[in-house]
Amino acid sequence: MVIVVKGNRESQQVDELIRWIEARDFTVQVNEGVHKTILGVVGDTSTLDISSISSFPAVEDVKRIQEPYKKANRVMHLEDTVVDVSGVKIGGGHFEVMAGPCSVETKEQVLTIAEYVKKHGGAILRGGAFKPRTSPYAFQGLKDKGLEILLEAKKRTGLPIVTELMSLDNLHLFENVDIIQIGARNMQNFAMLKELGKVKKPILLKRGIANTTEELLLSAEYIMAGGNDNVILCERGIRTFETYTRSTLDISAVPVLKKLTHLPVIVDPSHASGKAELVESLALASIAAGADGLIIETHNNPKCALCDGAQSLNEESFAKVMTKVNKLKEFMKSLK
Ligand code: PEP
Ligand code: MN
Repeated sequence: MVIVVKGNRESQQVDELIRWIEARDFTVQVNEGVHKTILGVVGDTSTLDISSISSFPAVEDVKRIQEPYKKANRVMHLEDTVVDVSGVKIGGGHFEVMAGPCSVETKEQVLTIAEYVKKHGGAILRGGAFKPRTSPYAFQGLKDKGLEILLEAKKRTGLPIVTELMSLDNLHLFENVDIIQIGARNMQNFAMLKELGKVKKPILLKRGIANTTEELLLSAEYIMAGGNDNVILCERGIRTFETYTRSTLDISAVPVLKKLTHLPVIVDPSHASGKAELVESLALASIAAGADGLIIETHNNPKCALCDGAQSLNEESFAKVMTKVNKLKEFMKSLK
């Protein structure tokens, strides 16, 4: 339920209303926007009577939220959420690029890539230590050793790191990781999402290959319902009948999600296309569609990459993409 109130949190009449709702065992989320203050009431509000609430003098409007996701819903929080990743902001006009190899292979590889990601304007270093591979015989990642390498790169470059968690058994290893990535395959691992609600760290939640935007928002809701509002959504392509590309980038998911939720939305043009030569076009299209950031795979020697070499940009192409990304980003600002 959403209640639009006259006055701010400090006003006595608003306070009286909040206490009345809380006395009925609901939690009230107060969002003080520039023009309006909104109270979000979360839980089974069917027992709350709209006319009783409307009778409070502070109330301007009361609405039940029709959509199944509540905390993630734009109506609960009119302004864009800005997620702070160890000082790097994403969302609400802050656009950033996360980049790095598909998987962590060696210390030299990651340090080389981290240096050039930073040099060309990437703000966050990506790299998989625990890899979700379709075949059990494919390289599964360096696991805890890979995390150590990423942490070393973070120390040397100052870039925050994003890396995928595949099992809650490894959560304790992620203490110094800046963003926990939940991959497409785990988007609906509800036990995991519930635990991530207790973590006070940004979560990068990737859309499953066969999931709707509503399902993605409900997965975000699991994390938020547990108390963690730092969720960044990622459109990474879905499975369709098209086979030329690895997935089909659902570009419309960007404006759709931006309308439905206040959470930041980023795009992964690498996994969406599966082809390095398509990454630039998809990256630029994503910015034009309103994305708050990108996550791009890049490798110092794509031909020898242990995972996803075909979609990985080498340093030169990464630098070229970054130049265009920055130009388009500025142009988009001028349109606002
Ligand atoms: C990845 O980003 O390394 C990855 C495996 O992506 P996805 O979960 O989107 O397939
Ligand atoms: Mn990959």
